[in-house]
Amino acid sequence: AAKGEGQKDVQKETLLSITAKKEEDFANWYSEVITRSDMIDYYDISGCYILKPWSFSIWEQIQTFLDGEIKKLGVQGCYFPMFVSQKALEAEKDHIEGFSPEVAWVTKSGQSELENPIAVRPTSETIMYPAFAKWIRSHRDLPLKLNQWCNVVRWEFKNPTPFIRTREFLWQEGHTAHSSLESAATEVLDILDLYRRVYEELLAVPVVKGKKTETEKFAGGFYTTTVEAFIPATARGIQGATSHNLGQNFGKMFKIEYEDEKGSKQIPWQNSWGMTTRTIGVMVMIHADNQGLVLPPRVAPVQVIVIPVVYKDSAAELNSKAEELVESLRAAGIRVDIDTRSNYTAGWKYNHWEQKGVPIRLELGPKDLEKKQVRMVRRLDNSKEDVPLSVIVPKLKLELELIQHKMLQRAKDEHSTRTRTVMKWEEFVPALDAGCMALTPFCDEAEWEETAKKRSKEEKLSAGETEDERTAVSAAAKTLCIPFDQPDLPAGTPCFISGKPAKCWVLWGRTY
Ligand code: AMP
Repeated sequence: AAKGEGQKDVQKETLLSITAKKEEDFANWYSEVITRSDMIDYYDISGCYILKPWSFSIWEQIQTFLDGEIKKLGVQGCYFPMFVSQKALEAEKDHIEGFSPEVAWVTKSGQSELENPIAVRPTSETIMYPAFAKWIRSHRDLPLKLNQWCNVVRWEFKNPTPFIRTREFLWQEGHTAHSSLESAATEVLDILDLYRRVYEELLAVPVVKGKKTETEKFAGGFYTTTVEAFIPATARGIQGATSHNLGQNFGKMFKIEYEDEKGSKQIPWQNSWGMTTRTIGVMVMIHADNQGLVLPPRVAPVQVIVIPVVYKDSAAELNSKAEELVESLRAAGIRVDIDTRSNYTAGWKYNHWEQKGVPIRLELGPKDLEKKQVRMVRRLDNSKEDVPLSVIVPKLKLELELIQHKMLQRAKDEHSTRTRTVMKWEEFVPALDAGCMALTPFCDEAEWEETAKKRSKEEKLSAGETEDERTAVSAAAKTLCIPFDQPDLPAGTPCFISGKPAKCWVLWGRTY
C-alpha cells in the first residue's frame, strides 16, 4: 500500500509518541503507555483510577472466560453489601490483624458522626460468613459455592500503581464451603488452574503455580496457593491471583455448623479465591514496548484495524470497499474496526493504533484494490505481508492465533532466563541484582525467611541504592512461592541461608 499522506487539506494533527523508554524510565513509560492507549485516566484521589473502555473491555473478556469456567464447577453468582460492621469485621483475630491497617471506615453521614462506624469491605469473608451460618444447616446444604464480581477497598500505604496496586480495585471473590477437606482442597487447585489459564491463555503471561509460605499466606487462612508472575523490565515478582483454603477457622468464629449424615455437628471446610484488575497491569508491563501497548489477540478489544489509504479522488470508492472488508471480517467473528477519519493522515493513524496495541493493521490503498490484496502489518514485530483478499478471513484467524502463541512463547523464554538456581547466600543478592528470581533450597522456617528479607535489603541499601519510590517496589527480596513443580532435592541438601537441611525449593524475588 502506498504510504499516502491522505488528503492534502488534512488538518495535520501531531500524535505525541511515547517519550520515556521502557528500559530507562519504566515508571514514566508505563504511565505514558496506559494513558496514550486510552486505558486509564487519572483521578483526584490517590490510588483510584478511571478504567476507560479500552481497558475495561479486557476486564470483560477475563470476566466472560472466568465466570463461564467457575459456573461449570457449580459456582453461583451473588451480591453482598459493601459495608461491614466492626463486630463482624473483627470476629476472626488473625484475619483482622492482617487487614486492619488498610481498612477504610465510614464515620459520618452528612455532618453527624455515626454511632457505629462501618467499614468498607477489603474482602468479604466477614460479610458473607454470618449468612453462611444461617444457610448451612445440613450436609445437604453443602457444598455451597458462591462468587461475586465487585469492587473492594484497601487503603494501601505503598505507592499506588494503576491496575497493579490500587486502593479500590475490581475483582471476583469466590467463597465456598465443603463437607470435607479433600473436596475443598481439590477446588483450591481447580480454581488456581483457571487463574493460570487467564494469565497464560488469555494474557500470554507465564506464571508459576505454588503455595505461599506461612509468613506470606492469607491472614486467618489454613494455606494459600498462588500464581506468581514476573516483570522482566523491573525484575520484580508479582502475585497474580490467590486461591485460599481457609480450613475451619472462619467456620468456628462465625459458628457455621451443620449436621452430617449421622446427625452429629460438623464445621465445614471453606475456601476463598480472588483475581483482580491487576491482571491487566501485568499484561501491559510484560508485553508493551516503546511504541506503546501490545495486546494479545484473545483479549484485544479490536483485533484488526482497517485503514483505507485514501487520495482525494479515490476516497469514496476506497472507503466503501474497506467497509465491505470490515463487514466480512466481522461476520467471521473477528473484532474489527475501521478508521475513515478524514482529518488525520494515514501515518498518524498507524501510530495511533500502534499505541493502542491492536495486533493487526490492514492498509488498503488504490494499488492494493487493483491487485485485489491488502497490506497486513503485525504490531508484535512490525512485519508486513501482502495478503490476497480472497483468503483474508482464514489468514487473519491463523495470524491472530500465531501472534497469541508467539507472545506467550517470548514471555516464557524471558521468564526462564530470569530464574536462577541459587545454592548459597553469597549468590543470592547477585542473582537478584542480575534481574533474576532465585530458586533456592530452603529450610522453610519463618525466622530464616525474615533474615533473608532483612539481609537482602541491607546489602542492597549499603551498596548505595535507594528504594524505588515511584514504582512501589522495595529492595528486600521475599518468597514468591513454594513452586508445585519441585526439582529434585537430594537428602541433606543444605538450606541456602541457614545451612540446615532444606525442606523444599522456594522461589524468591524482589516484588511489587
Ligand atoms: P487476597 O484477597 O489478599 O488474596 O488478594 C487477592 C489478589 O488480589 C492478590 O493475589 C493480588 O493479585 C490482588 N491484589 C491485592 N492487592 C491488590 C491491590 N491493591 N490492587 C490490585 N490487586 C490487588
